[in-house]
Amino acid sequence: MNFPIANRIANLQPSDIRLMTRECERLGGINLGQGLGDLPTPPMVREGAIKAIQNGLNTYTPSEGVASLRQAIAKKLKRDNGLDVDPDHEIVISSGTTGAFAATLTALLNPGDGILLLEPYYGYHLNTILLNGLEPHFLPLAPPEFALDETALRAALRPNTRAMVVCTPSNPSGKMFSAAELAIIERVAEQHNLLIISDEIYEYITYDGRQHLSPASIGRLGKRTVSIMGFSKTFSITGWRLGYAVADASLAKAINLVNDLLYVCAPSPLQYGVEAGLQAPPEYFDKLRAEYQRKRDIICQGLADAGLTPLIPQGAYYVLVDVSHQGYPTAKAAALALLEQTGVASIPGSLFYQGPQGERLIRFCFAKEDAVLHEAVARLSKFRSRAPLKNSQPT
Ligand code: PLP
Repeated sequence: MNFPIANRIANLQPSDIRLMTRECERLGGINLGQGLGDLPTPPMVREGAIKAIQNGLNTYTPSEGVASLRQAIAKKLKRDNGLDVDPDHEIVISSGTTGAFAATLTALLNPGDGILLLEPYYGYHLNTILLNGLEPHFLPLAPPEFALDETALRAALRPNTRAMVVCTPSNPSGKMFSAAELAIIERVAEQHNLLIISDEIYEYITYDGRQHLSPASIGRLGKRTVSIMGFSKTFSITGWRLGYAVADASLAKAINLVNDLLYVCAPSPLQYGVEAGLQAPPEYFDKLRAEYQRKRDIICQGLADAGLTPLIPQGAYYVLVDVSHQGYPTAKAAALALLEQTGVASIPGSLFYQGPQGERLIRFCFAKEDAVLHEAVARLSKFRSRAPLKNSQPT
């Protein structure tokens, strides 16, 4: 049909993640590209949802979510995030972290407003920003530390910058923002009256004893931060679509208005499932961390043994690998060559940057069963880097 698509999606590109998945399927490879956590869902979460369905809790809930779940979240926020939150006015349960992020952008920013993304960024953040007609600005953080520098942050702001996205622990770098870095963000945000949107979906997947820090718990950031959190990764329920936004009451009210229009409410019986999950003892979260840390170590050791250079993540379940010395002109060429040679799919780093920095990197997801990771590592050992090309290195 000859009908034009809307302008607001004209600049959105289908991601190369799909291309890698297709190629991986064609070659019968192991897909460490796409991030799908496949640990089992805890029985208390499953049973909580089943019980709710059996008890007939299947109708719409308030758009901000069921009261008892919001109360359980408020307790969790106090215990794990150091945040004192009013469950009646400052929490909005949404259709995943993705839904909470989309509702936040629509509710709090106007088309044409600038919003700062730190590179490497999560692709959905950028595309949701574009979908809302916002103007993304970028600040590349340099591997291997991905450290935030105050001067660089100030220089990245434009006259129309009204917000900044922080993802901690980060997808794709695994970086966790330190107290000192969050203090930089506080200073700059106070001075420029910025809204901070912090995506903390990987808050429980942290390594080497590192403590997750919620930006909203730092200094005066609480008032100007929307903390976006979710259950997909914590309870391995990516398909349940449950997440939430935490914000000052005036902001949460606006987010809830949009949340209602976009999703009406999050899936009712599943809200009771995660409420049950929030009663899990601390050992559940310790075990989750330990399992992913073991997986991280399997893949990072395998990559290093194969002559690749993993940038060891501090959290989340991805690892970036520096392929700049492997002789490929682009990250996509490196990822495709690795897939052809070894049958292991990754994602080109160019998906996470606007500029050439991403051409040095590829990303692997290690949220896979141990047997799959061991097989991937065995295959990766066959990798032979190409002789460096003259002038082929990205600058
Ligand atoms: N935020 C980040 C940084 C992610 O990596 C992902 C999934 O990969 C999501 C959000 C999606 O979360 P949800 O399933 O809660 O929508």
